[in-house]
Amino acid sequence: MTQIDEKLEPILTEVLRRNAGEVEFHQAVCEVLGSLGRVVAKHPDYLDDALIERICEPERQIIFRVPWVDDKGHVQINRGFRVQFNSALGPYKGGIRFHPSVNLGIIKFLGFEQTFKNALTGMPIGGGKGGSDFNPRGRSDGEIMRFCQSFMTELHRHIGEYTDVPAGDIGVGGREIGYMFGQYKRLTNRYEAGVLTGKGLVYGGSRARKEATGYGAVYFVERMLATKGTDFAGKRVVVSGSGNVAIYTMEKILSFGGIVVACSDSSGYVVDESGIDLDLVKEIKEVRRERISEYARLKGTGAHYIEGGSIWDVACDVAMPSATQNELTGKDARTLVKNGVIAVGEGANMPSTPDAVHIFQEAGVLFAPGKAANAGGVATSALEMQQNASRDSWTFEQTEERLAMIMRSIHDICAETAEEYGATGDYVLGANIAGFVRVAEAMRALGLI
Ligand code: GLU
Repeated sequence: MTQIDEKLEPILTEVLRRNAGEVEFHQAVCEVLGSLGRVVAKHPDYLDDALIERICEPERQIIFRVPWVDDKGHVQINRGFRVQFNSALGPYKGGIRFHPSVNLGIIKFLGFEQTFKNALTGMPIGGGKGGSDFNPRGRSDGEIMRFCQSFMTELHRHIGEYTDVPAGDIGVGGREIGYMFGQYKRLTNRYEAGVLTGKGLVYGGSRARKEATGYGAVYFVERMLATKGTDFAGKRVVVSGSGNVAIYTMEKILSFGGIVVACSDSSGYVVDESGIDLDLVKEIKEVRRERISEYARLKGTGAHYIEGGSIWDVACDVAMPSATQNELTGKDARTLVKNGVIAVGEGANMPSTPDAVHIFQEAGVLFAPGKAANAGGVATSALEMQQNASRDSWTFEQTEERLAMIMRSIHDICAETAEEYGATGDYVLGANIAGFVRVAEAMRALGLI
């Protein structure tokens, strides 16, 4: 369990009481407050005016009904959420998740994390998150479209290019963003490209946005490895997940000379000692929208699929959890350490449990927390907003170069902040403190908000 400074304990107690039962939100707040003891020791004025309490309380939380009709003509009901967490640095910004596990606590944890992540990018974006407990698995294209249209029919009154700019997350990719943008345009009669990011290239999307979260995470880990005089070349890497983040994480690792030996989905994982065939993964996941078990069937010799179990049993030098929250437990962390892992980079949001993070740090494993390592996606969303605002469109190279620069700067600010606060090499502390200070300073400057 994270040690909380005694001055921050009453704040945490109140957050836990006020948000009863929201375990993921508690976990995220606990981790950030766990890093702030050193800040308030140096700058006790951050305890003034309930600044930290205000940061833990979302500015606005919207919950709504999403009725839609399935292919059989039956009416279905889901619940929609948008948590507008903090707008001190810019319009609320963050993805929309469609997954049956979605509830208010999960959206709040994601919105809270997003606030600090977005601050770390140095770009003018606040933090927010949304989603629904809708399960897209097995749904037809028509069902997906009708759901997205109904979801946007309510959401449209709460968003806007200067208000709140959603994007994708688990279960929401280019197809869903397209349907939502189309419905927003119909409802408002405005071609407001900057209201959503992750758009298709033909209607205002940015090149390299799709690749950005995965590429960015690899850039971050590459720079972290460089502090120990090493790199990805020849390293065995395990990447959990096989969605957008995982696919482009694998792509960049391959281009840096790493060998990806395993990836997964929520049913199981595949191991391919000759190196995962990324084109096959893309075909299965992006085109056919099938399960990863298909990989072993289509690849034939060399690859095998393990139903259930833990992908972290596969020995590797670098682990990149890129699936979902709390997918990597203390037990998994112990296995990875025993198998000689040297670096862990979180592509997903909060994929390692607090126990796991502790074990990595105790063992001296380089550990890049999601709010820093996976910030490349949202940073490129901010670049998409810039292109939309100037009615411009940049080349892939230009956009990727900006992304690489942003990731280097996030790495360095985390490393420098950790050092400044006497915890050299602790990227969790560095990210939490650097993100917090940016948000807190902006909030202070804006008066009592
Ligand atoms: N869902 C992504 C994240 O967790 C991207 C958000 C965005 O681009 O706004 O950061």
